[in-house]
Amino acid sequence: MNFDVRRQKAQKLLSNLGLDALILCQGENLRYFCNFTGTDGVFILTADQTVFLTDSRYTTQAGQQVIADDIQEYKVKADAVAKYLGGQSLSKFGFEASIAFAMFEDLRNSGQPSWHWHALRDELEKIRLIKDDQETDLIRRAARLNKKALEDVLPIIQPGAIERDIALALEFSLKKNGAEEKAFDFIVASGPRGALPHGIASNRALLHSELVTIDFGCCFHGYHSDETVTLAVGLIEDELRKIFDIVLEAHDRAIQTVSPGIPLIDIDRVARDYIESAGYGVYFGHGLGHGVGLDVHEAPTVSPRSKTVAEPGMVFTIEPGIYLPNIGGVRIEDMVIVTEEGCQVLTLIPKTFRNILVN
Ligand code: ZN
Ligand code: ZN
Repeated sequence: MNFDVRRQKAQKLLSNLGLDALILCQGENLRYFCNFTGTDGVFILTADQTVFLTDSRYTTQAGQQVIADDIQEYKVKADAVAKYLGGQSLSKFGFEASIAFAMFEDLRNSGQPSWHWHALRDELEKIRLIKDDQETDLIRRAARLNKKALEDVLPIIQPGAIERDIALALEFSLKKNGAEEKAFDFIVASGPRGALPHGIASNRALLHSELVTIDFGCCFHGYHSDETVTLAVGLIEDELRKIFDIVLEAHDRAIQTVSPGIPLIDIDRVARDYIESAGYGVYFGHGLGHGVGLDVHEAPTVSPRSKTVAEPGMVFTIEPGIYLPNIGGVRIEDMVIVTEEGCQVLTLIPKTFRNILVN
């Protein structure tokens, strides 16, 4: 990881916004900009200096990990930040809009009334848009854990299996094989529950002749995988098979479209147009995909609202779906990385139609 390059990008942001310092508290940004993997600390970056502040629980860890000009220990976070900034005679600060409001109030109250505070919304995520080789490698390894987990769990995906048990078994395999954490609460949505795009695993038992949508992923050294399979539990009705084929085709067409220079809105449109032309447009309500990296949902968005153009090194999901209320649903999700020539699929589980009672 080239922390010098990251520091330069952050300093460029600083000057573009006319700020004196960036105050970073969020875990993903701490890892990205100064290599800290703990859960509590503040990284302050000015035009010519960086300092990491943390409490006594993390002083030793910070000494081993953190890349900063100085590391300081504090008793009260907001006071320490204000003291540092005041000592440098700085007055315009950027902070992450996603920090807790209470934290912001503490910062503001500890500082001087004349200080100016600028909330950063997606500026820092934009710096993280292009993944370097090491980041890509960690994402690939997270994706490999997904493949292994589904292989491990496939034997229990049978009529009678409880959705929550499938989710737990996936999580167990992922962690057993090296994942730090699950990426989110897994979706295991069987039968009519498949019509819920965010159907978190419930106590429902799988039945014969229905689909089950499983959306899962993990975190490996801070980087995430995110992948969805829809499996048939035995023979299914024609309409379910029909929507499966439509979603798969939309997914394949979208992936074939991904290449440097293409606006992400156009990739979304390829999948959306296909689903619409098949008559199911109203049943595909969400965006086609999202960026994945230190956060499982990060910039860029791949949707009708996207403003980003694909560039080599961007990693995002392609996940079209069709959700038929009270009947069932299909979603198929892969992660891709934009390359110089087009794209490469990072996730490894085959997405072709699969009746798990047969093969
Ligand atoms: Zn997903
Ligand atoms: Zn996703």
